[in-house]
Amino acid sequence: MFDPLAWIPEQLDLLHAMERRRAIHVRSTQQGATVSWRENHLINFGSNDYLDLAADPRLRDAAQAAIAREGWGSGASPLITGRGSEQAQLEAELARFEGTEAGLTFSSGFAANAGTIDALTDRGDVILSDEKNHASIIDGTRLSKATVRVYPHRDVDYLENLLKQCGTFRRRLIVTDTLFSMDGTIAPLDELVDLADKYEAMLMVDEAHATGVFGEHGHGLCEHFGVEDRVPVRVGTFSKAFGGHGGFVVGSQALIDYLVNRSRPYVFSTAAPAANAAAMLAALQIVQHEPERRQKLMASAEFLRDALRQQGWSLGDSHSQIIPVIVETEALAMELSTKLFERGMLVPGIRPPSVPDGECLLRISLSSGHTRQHLDTLVEALKQLRF
Ligand SMILES: *Cc1c(COP(=O)(O)O)cnc(C)c1O
Repeated sequence: MFDPLAWIPEQLDLLHAMERRRAIHVRSTQQGATVSWRENHLINFGSNDYLDLAADPRLRDAAQAAIAREGWGSGASPLITGRGSEQAQLEAELARFEGTEAGLTFSSGFAANAGTIDALTDRGDVILSDEKNHASIIDGTRLSKATVRVYPHRDVDYLENLLKQCGTFRRRLIVTDTLFSMDGTIAPLDELVDLADKYEAMLMVDEAHATGVFGEHGHGLCEHFGVEDRVPVRVGTFSKAFGGHGGFVVGSQALIDYLVNRSRPYVFSTAAPAANAAAMLAALQIVQHEPERRQKLMASAEFLRDALRQQGWSLGDSHSQIIPVIVETEALAMELSTKLFERGMLVPGIRPPSVPDGECLLRISLSSGHTRQHLDTLVEALKQLRF
């Protein structure tokens, strides 16, 4: 009998033959600077829990108190009956933290990016997107009916040339990660705001990896560059430094009102549980009152980058807590990852489709929970594995 899905196992076999079939591991402990996968006890250099908040008891207690008050589920999309007081308070606090008129929470950072790009652009508009933008930005550009132009990574000259040719479009949207998730590089926000002004473009940035980490007050790279007031659309996520779940957009009240009406992942998706909003309110307090977490993270990153550069590893242009060890081949990336795993360290090898062919790497991501001993263990192992 004809099996209409017979092609799927064939595709999986193909991935297996290319050693690209991926499996999901099950963690048997809390998320943290160390984790266990069954009998493997690992120093965790794979998570984005940059401020070590995912298992913080204060987040847990806030969530438990919210569950006691509200129960678990939210019941509907926020527009219908899903928005509770915790969510409203979180949006207000977030806007205060970011210095904007308003904020809006989404069920994920992925939804926030895709749903904002799609809402802001339509046929007759053009989107200018960095080639290394996150998948959720790319998918937003695919959802939109606008024309899409991709510019080489952080290449402002190329972008300016594109903008010169885009005068006939109704509206222009420049969109970029601020801290790029795979190579740890930083977008030239100081130049991007000037280009956006000069060519009358909307500028949208994704601070997913930078919120809570960069800037004196932890607002992200817009704060670091002093351009917060010049970036009208700022996206972030609660799933990285905030140690929780969900995405957000901050900006003017008009922007937020428009997204509430027009962003499909907002309108047609059930609101997150109140407990998540309560936990994220607690995280927001910690981010504001414990700057030592991001200071320690930055010091660890500097220490590790120096040590690995001295060993001769190529780290690209990372200036952040995301440190790529760039290697020539996919096989080498996976071999290093395996050997580190055998030595008790979780450092994911990154390969297509997460990066283009030929740009494979080990992605080290640091947390303020890492001790000097954790870092020394990694440095020593990579020294032994250097050939
Ligand atoms: C993780 C990530 C997202 C998606 O956020 P989630 O909350 O995990 O869905 C968006 N943008 C970038 C750059 C990311 O790294």
